[in-house]
Amino acid sequence: MVLHAQPGVFLLLTVPDGPPRYLGRDDKDIREKLVKWLGRSYRYFKFLYCETPQEAFQKQCELYHSHKRTLDNTRHPERSEGTEWRCSLCDFYE
Ligand SMILES: [Zn+2]
Repeated sequence: MVLHAQPGVFLLLTVPDGPPRYLGRDDKDIREKLVKWLGRSYRYFKFLYCETPQEAFQKQCELYHSHKRTLDNTRHPERSEGTEWRCSLCDFYE
């Protein structure tokens, strides 16, 4: 389980080992965000802790570009306010 308050990214699934259906990230506490989303139609999840919010953003971008065909949230990940982070896989923030 997710135990610590730490930045990270997560994928939500509707069936075990099915295609990822929702991609999320939290810059402070991934646990809190996950708890909010789980339990309605999304009953399964995978997550990854990241060391920094920027790392979480980069990871979210990678996952977005890999899985966007099956995701319900189809918008490109957004960088945190006040940052100049860029996606390394497209020119969304160029
Ligand atoms: Zn991108």
